[in-house]
Amino acid sequence: MLEIASFTLGPVKTNAYLVADPIIGDAAVIDPAWDGHLILAEAKKRGWRIAHLWYTHAHFDHIGGAGAIADGLNPLPLVALHPADHVLWRAEGGAPLFGFKIDPGPEPTIDLVQGQVLRLGSIEIEVRFTPGHTPGHCIFYVPSAKICFCGDLIFHNSVGRTDLPGSDWNTLIESIKSQVFTLPDDTRLLSGHGPETTVGQEKKFNPFVGNSPLA
Ligand SMILES: [Zn+2]
Ligand SMILES: [Zn+2]
Repeated sequence: MLEIASFTLGPVKTNAYLVADPIIGDAAVIDPAWDGHLILAEAKKRGWRIAHLWYTHAHFDHIGGAGAIADGLNPLPLVALHPADHVLWRAEGGAPLFGFKIDPGPEPTIDLVQGQVLRLGSIEIEVRFTPGHTPGHCIFYVPSAKICFCGDLIFHNSVGRTDLPGSDWNTLIESIKSQVFTLPDDTRLLSGHGPETTVGQEKKFNPFVGNSPLA
């Protein structure tokens, strides 16, 4: 059974998720937002080995802790990112635009693709390609836990920004409808910012994509 330690870190309060199969102790960090030493310390406390960094997208506030995590690990973690976000990763996720400097850590060597299955011990994690907020945005769905880690695609009562370079509103809405609203209603959505929600909740009440008059 998937175990999760959640953190809210950094200058724009980004959620990072340390996830593991506790039986064998293999762990991954989904969006190592900031303050990597805190994530490392939690993994150590729980006896977990961080073997992977999985990025929903390459914005600086989602990868800012990667360097510090990698510095504390031997062997280095494998980094997975969709290739359409590599340009953004090389630009430090836009950090200089916002006046920040980050250590982006090891180069991504695993290309995420739609339908790919990632594994942590016996747990399977399905990759869903969800462009719109960035060109290479992906979400991570764990059917056995009924949980979807959805980055900056959709939030409780809100959606990801599309006013940034490489963003596109129609693409974002299409990604939500085809990749999130097709999941079971009781699927928990753990987003990149703010509190958790569910598919059913957002289908009903999300003012941007739900059945509300604004949609
Ligand atoms: Zn973002
Ligand atoms: Zn973000």
